[in-house]
Amino acid sequence: MPDIAKEQLPLKPILEVNGLRKYFASKQPGSWRTKTLKAVDNVSFHLYEGETYGLVGESGCGKSTLGRTLLRLTEPTEGTALYNGKDLFSLPGKELQASRKQLQMVFQDPFASLHPRKSIGAALTEPLIIHRIGTPAERYSRVLEILRVVGLQPSHYDRLPHELSGGQRQRVVLARALILEPKLVICDEPVSALDVIIQAQILNLMKQLQQDFKLTYLFIAHDLGVVRHISDRIGVMYLGKLVEEAPTDQLFASPKHPYTRALLSAVPKSDPAGKRDRILLEGDVPSPLDPPTGCTFHPRCPLATERCRKEIPVKREVADRHFAACHLA
Ligand code: SF4
Repeated sequence: MPDIAKEQLPLKPILEVNGLRKYFASKQPGSWRTKTLKAVDNVSFHLYEGETYGLVGESGCGKSTLGRTLLRLTEPTEGTALYNGKDLFSLPGKELQASRKQLQMVFQDPFASLHPRKSIGAALTEPLIIHRIGTPAERYSRVLEILRVVGLQPSHYDRLPHELSGGQRQRVVLARALILEPKLVICDEPVSALDVIIQAQILNLMKQLQQDFKLTYLFIAHDLGVVRHISDRIGVMYLGKLVEEAPTDQLFASPKHPYTRALLSAVPKSDPAGKRDRILLEGDVPSPLDPPTGCTFHPRCPLATERCRKEIPVKREVADRHFAACHLA
């Protein structure tokens, strides 16, 4: 897979997320009581214009909920998300609808994202109709253009989703996200349903589209190998919290949080000389309905101390642009 990571970061934040919480009330079986599930718990980070920010963590850590909450596909419990200075969470209906032109989402399963009986042309025209953009003739030529941009042919216009390959379907999903010319695209596991060769093609296409359309990506994935190849910076989530954040190369060269170290130790390396010893974590991820006290990672952490059981570690800068939430970092 080609290394397409960028070397320099731009400095202007396009999105500033502060203290984001998304809690769900979960009914207990056989009881009238409810418990609080803290899917996203006090998460803060910035996205800089033109960068790709990779968000990684095991399944169920809250990263997809975070992406959906930013677009208000589910409402936040608390926090702010300033997009170009405006809080997305307090936008009224019309302004929220208008903001959706600039913020788009790409989901994991392209087959599930497309209506099975709607042609590709109709699926791509729909956002233009919803946002009242162009005449029918202008919409038609815009759809043909976006098909070309994502590497598809005019002949795909009349096809149905099941007549395309997985990679072609994901190109259609990207085209649908881009047809409104957004600034920020939240990609939720966009290549995890594809085989390795197609993954590389789609990642390269995304990188090319990022340059051509001046896009900013929030790239959510569980596969650190994939995230490494596309991200400028990476945030690591565990049980609803952001536990580490750093520029990609720095995170791989010098991870500070024991959870990140364990995740990285599981990434296969092409160079056997540079192999890391695999760190096997004990136990399962605790239930977010009943998270451990103090540092929520302490039951699985090989370095845990008494302090870790009592005191929640605060995310702080431990090296240049490198943040970690660990008492020992
Ligand atoms: Fe481990 Fe303690 Fe650091 Fe948590 S705070 S990651 S338990 S050392």
